[in-house]
Amino acid sequence: MSSDCELLIYDMEKQMKNIQTSGTLNTFHHMVKLRSMGKDIINFCVGEPDTDTAPVVREFAIQAVKTFKIGYTPSEGLPELREAVSGLFANENCGLDPYKEIMITAGAKPALYLSLMTLLKAGDEVLIPEPYYPSYPSMVSLSGARPIFIRGPLEKGFKISVQVIEKYVCRKTRILIMNSPVNPTGSVYSESELREILDYCSLKNILCIFDDVYNHFIYNPDLKFFTSSLFSKYRKHLILIRSFSKEFAMTGWRIGYMAGDSDYITPIKVLQGHASGNPQTLSQFAALTALKNYESARIPLTLFSERRLLILDKLNECKNLTFIRPQGAFYFFCDIRNIKRYMKSDELSMYLMEEHGVAVTPGKAFGMEGFIRLSYADGNRLNEGMERLINGLNNL
Ligand code: PMP
Repeated sequence: MSSDCELLIYDMEKQMKNIQTSGTLNTFHHMVKLRSMGKDIINFCVGEPDTDTAPVVREFAIQAVKTFKIGYTPSEGLPELREAVSGLFANENCGLDPYKEIMITAGAKPALYLSLMTLLKAGDEVLIPEPYYPSYPSMVSLSGARPIFIRGPLEKGFKISVQVIEKYVCRKTRILIMNSPVNPTGSVYSESELREILDYCSLKNILCIFDDVYNHFIYNPDLKFFTSSLFSKYRKHLILIRSFSKEFAMTGWRIGYMAGDSDYITPIKVLQGHASGNPQTLSQFAALTALKNYESARIPLTLFSERRLLILDKLNECKNLTFIRPQGAFYFFCDIRNIKRYMKSDELSMYLMEEHGVAVTPGKAFGMEGFIRLSYADGNRLNEGMERLINGLNNL
């Protein structure tokens, strides 16, 4: 290697010091590898619904390829799609200007990343509740800011409150990343819990970036409310991020959107324009079709609700595994600290996959040792998967 090259790599290593490859992907890749070697593995690890994108959306996209010119759109997204998103918010009784306060992105991930890159500077601090979606800390570190991890009590499904936040707030605190329903716990914040947190954020001038990607997947009707209603009081301190990935089973189409005050959205749009241009045009038309066929294009919640009840029943039978009772998303977060022979979460995940043919994600991937995440996004052979899991734990 030439010395110039070594210098560049040294700088890059410094830059990437706090950036991890996603632990969820590591488990997934291992499962794919074992399957390719002929091993039968039941998938409890992937957070991707097994349902297909609605036929109406797929048909529309096929016709569009044949008849439309798939050209550039404005970098903030097709005006018709932004208008449709604004219409969705209007149905939730929230008025948002489609041209100034809404931006289409290539999924929730770029919405999160571009917001953090635009709004943070080196030395800022960002509060991240644990356990967390694995991309949050890496994205914050890439922006030059510092992730600060905060944690609510286990009895509350690790949900944070003002009492938890205030211990970590200082003059450098700029952003709090909230996610509800939470990946990986399935915990859901009630409207009053969120309002208390946002009242505090407003008082301390902290911006809340709210990752709302699982908002369709709430099983307890008492916890459902329109998150967009928060804009009426907290407009200056809230960015809301949603996605078509889970709600419409459109993961690979890569479309999401964000809403917020134009003071935030305007510079974020500029960054998206430079970084990637517009989100994929055909996918934007597909997303528009999904919104026009709102009820039929969404994943039926009953399907996931049935899966959740099945796993709840099975886990209740399993004496040495306790878990957070999830109210949303499609995950169970299980406490493995009391199983017969203690193993670290990645060791246990490996043991279950290699010796019992069931893939679960180690809690370590979400910043929390002593837990594993079960996903029921893939509903294939759930009963058998649970039997393998329980058998694997009993054999320890
Ligand atoms: N946030 C959370 C909490 C997620 O679980 C995911 C996907 N697993 C994302 C964001 C990214 O979603 P998208 O596919 O829209 O980028």
